[in-house]
Amino acid sequence: MLSPKYRKLQDSLAGLPGIGKKTAGRLAMHIITQKSTNSLDIANAITDAIQSISHCSICNMLSETDPCPVCEDKERDNRLLCVVENTLDVYLFEEIHSFKGRYFVLGHLLSPMHGIGPDEIRFDLLTKYLQDNPVEELVLALSPSVEGETTISFIAEQLEKSSIRISRLSTGLPFGSNIEYANSVTLANAFRNRTNL
Ligand SMILES: [Zn+2]
Repeated sequence: MLSPKYRKLQDSLAGLPGIGKKTAGRLAMHIITQKSTNSLDIANAITDAIQSISHCSICNMLSETDPCPVCEDKERDNRLLCVVENTLDVYLFEEIHSFKGRYFVLGHLLSPMHGIGPDEIRFDLLTKYLQDNPVEELVLALSPSVEGETTISFIAEQLEKSSIRISRLSTGLPFGSNIEYANSVTLANAFRNRTNL
C-alpha cells in the first residue's frame, strides 16, 4: 500500500495552479527522497511567507509590512494610480522602472459566473482609496480577457461621475492573454500608449 503521507503531500501539491497529479507525484517523491536541508528549507520558506505576508490595508498589495513599502514611499506621484489584478503585476510594473505612481491591487477580476463580484475585487477599498488620496488618473492595467474587460467596464461605469481620468493599457497585448506573460518592453509600450475611457 502506498504511503498515506506521500499521498497527502502529492494531493497538496496537485492543488497548486498548473501542477497536474503526475507532476505532483514526481515533486512529492523528489522532496521526500532529497531528505537534504533543501526540502526543509522549502517547507520553512512556505511557512515563513504565509505567516509574515498579508494584505496592505491601503492598497491591498501583499506585503510584509502594513502599510506596504509603496504606500510608505513619499517620493511617489499621488496623482497616478495603477489598478492591477494581483501583487505579481505590481512586481512586473516595478521592473520596468518607468512607473512612479501608486498601485491598487484588486486581488481578482470580476467573474459573476464564478461568484466573484465587487466585494471580492475590493471595490469598497478602492473607493476609500480614491476618497483619501488626490488621484487624477486611474490606469486600469488589467489583462485583456473577458474578466479583464468586465472589470474595466464595471470600474469605469462606477466612476463615471467622478472627475478622475480613467485610462487602460493600449491594445498591444493579445486578447485572452495575461499581463503576467507580457515582456517588459510590451508592457512598457502598452502603458505609455494607454488610452482614455
Ligand atoms: Zn500599500
